[in-house]
Amino acid sequence: MIEVGSNICRLCLKESELRNSHILPEFLYGNLYDELHRTMLVSSSEKEKLIQKGVREYLLCQQCETKLSRYEGYATKVIQRIPNFMEDPTGQFVYSQGIDYKQFKLFQLSILWRAGVSNDLMFANVNLGRHEEKIRYMLEHEHPGKFTEYGCFILRIPDPQKVDKIIMPPMPEKLFGHNGYRFMIGNLFWYFVVSSHSTDKYMQYLFLQETGELRVWSARWNEQKLLNNIAQLLRSRKI
Ligand SMILES: [Zn+2]
Repeated sequence: MIEVGSNICRLCLKESELRNSHILPEFLYGNLYDELHRTMLVSSSEKEKLIQKGVREYLLCQQCETKLSRYEGYATKVIQRIPNFMEDPTGQFVYSQGIDYKQFKLFQLSILWRAGVSNDLMFANVNLGRHEEKIRYMLEHEHPGKFTEYGCFILRIPDPQKVDKIIMPPMPEKLFGHNGYRFMIGNLFWYFVVSSHSTDKYMQYLFLQETGELRVWSARWNEQKLLNNIAQLLRSRKI
C-alpha cells in the first residue's frame, strides 16, 4: 500500500516529483463547463455540488503523465469524430475503422485505472482489487492486451441537450453478468468490464476491436430508463 503524500509515482512506482494530474482527462469534460467554468456533479447520494474543473490529484511523475497524455491526445481526435462515424444499417450503433487499437485501448485503461487509484471521493466507488496491479502493469509496459481483456464499450445518448451538463461518479454495474463500472461523462457512457471470466461473443462485439473497428452504441435500447433515472435526479434541482 502506498501512503498518500509519498512521492512514489503510482504508475511506474519510482520516486519522483509528482504532477497534480487530472483523474479524468480535461477534454472529456468538454462543453460540460458552463460560463463559470464549473460543472454540475450529480452524486449517487443525490446531493449535488459544483466542482471547479476536473478533479486533480498528485499521482503521476512527469514521464508517466506525458505518456498518458499521448493516448489522450489521440483519443480526443477519435471522440471528436464520433458525430461523423458511419451509421450501421441496424441503427444500433455508429462505427469507424482504422482506429489505433493500442493507443485507444490504453487510453480506456488509463481512465479506469486512474479512477481506481484515486483517493478522491468522486471515485470512491471504483475498487479494482487485484485488477488494479494488472492494469497498472499493462499501462506501464504499454501492453493494450487482447480486446477481450478489460473491454470497454461506449454508449452515446442521441440527444445530448438533456444530459451534457452532468457528470456522475463512476458506479459499479453488472454488465451481462460480469462485474464492471459505468462512467458517465456528458452524452457518452463508458462501460468497463472488470472480470477474469471470459465474456461471450455478443458482448465482445461491443468492444474496441484489435482490427481497429470502434463501435459507439446508441442508447436507444435503454434510453427511456436511463433518461427517467436522470430526469428523477434533475427534477429536484431545476437545471
Ligand atoms: Zn511514473
